[in-house]
Amino acid sequence: IQSKLPNVGTTIFTVMSQLAMKHQAVNLGQGFPDFEGPEALRVALNRYMHEGKNQYAPMTGVPRLREQIALKTAALYGRPVNADSEVTVTSGATEALYAAIAAIVRAGDEVIVLDPCYDSYEPAIELNGGKAVHVELTLPDFSVDWQRVHDACTSKTRAIIVNSPHNPSGAVFSRADLDALAEIARRHDLIVISDEVYEHIVFDGVDHQSVLRHPELAERSFVISSFGKTYHCTGWKIGYCVAPAALSAEFRKVHQYLTFCTFNPAQWALADVLEQMPEHYRELPAFYQDKRDQFRAMLAGTRFKLLPVAGAYFQIVDYSDISDQDDRAFCEWLCAEKGVAAIPVSAFYQRAPEARLIRFCFAKNDVTLQAAATRLQGL
Ligand code: PMP
Ligand code: GLN
Repeated sequence: IQSKLPNVGTTIFTVMSQLAMKHQAVNLGQGFPDFEGPEALRVALNRYMHEGKNQYAPMTGVPRLREQIALKTAALYGRPVNADSEVTVTSGATEALYAAIAAIVRAGDEVIVLDPCYDSYEPAIELNGGKAVHVELTLPDFSVDWQRVHDACTSKTRAIIVNSPHNPSGAVFSRADLDALAEIARRHDLIVISDEVYEHIVFDGVDHQSVLRHPELAERSFVISSFGKTYHCTGWKIGYCVAPAALSAEFRKVHQYLTFCTFNPAQWALADVLEQMPEHYRELPAFYQDKRDQFRAMLAGTRFKLLPVAGAYFQIVDYSDISDQDDRAFCEWLCAEKGVAAIPVSAFYQRAPEARLIRFCFAKNDVTLQAAATRLQGL
């Protein structure tokens, strides 16, 4: 069979998790917490399953959950959104990203992506006949050079995908970034796909700059989030998309034939916790900032150079003082010989960067972080 994705192999997250299992390594590779979310959430899920919420959910999502998402969006970002026409619940952010891309990309369209970027964007663009145009973020802080983005736009550019807080670097957008993005989107008439799955994980007292705060951007954006990140339940795969009614209508045409609807009892349970314990997401920055600071302190005695982390739950390190192997080889060695799994940052790039960088996930129990750090001492 002639592959539609000849350049795609098995995703690096699966590859590294399998390698971690094989070597019984501490897995700081694939991004997922090794602790549970609120107990009330799991209790509610059980209850809704027992109470019989086991048939199809409404195609666009359980109304109570959409209502809670709309309330949260208005409270946090000052954007009133219509829960009926502008919010759609999806099977994780991954489905939402795919549905947004499929809804707008036509054969020959170009979509700007900012490298390093999450690995699902480009295959989704390609499967819909589009072409990803890669613009690299500027190291060491992974900031956007908006002039380069502007220069990369052509008459074929249909959309841009942005991600703040950023995976893998943890960089976050400022208000000035939103203004620059709005300027470019206006000049080139672009649709914005804003991947905000780490919206509740921003450190050092900084506010998350959602594109929903920016009225002009909000009018042309699909804003995508994931309850997996916020409620420590990545395995539930529940996410959502907020977009103006006209964009949401096109989005739903894809969603209804991609999955139709999403796991019903979890939607009811998530609506409960959103309504009853908003303190959970309000406390998330402090919770993860503490993990970031602990993990950085644990690595302080090694020759890893720690890059800054402003949000999300990943720490990029430069290992050039330890090895001159490429990042994949170094991750394989680290996993097999030191018993710690990480992700090679080149997996997020079209062209591997010159810098020697790997990514650790610090969404782990303190004992897990300590076990990894102990294995990394001496490097
Ligand atoms: N976007 C980014 C930047 C992510 O890190 C992830 C999770 N790894 C996703 C999207 C996908 O989220 P979900 O698990 O909800 O599909
Ligand atoms: N988003 C997670 C990460 O970046 C992994 C998601 C996945 O395994 N597909 O590590």
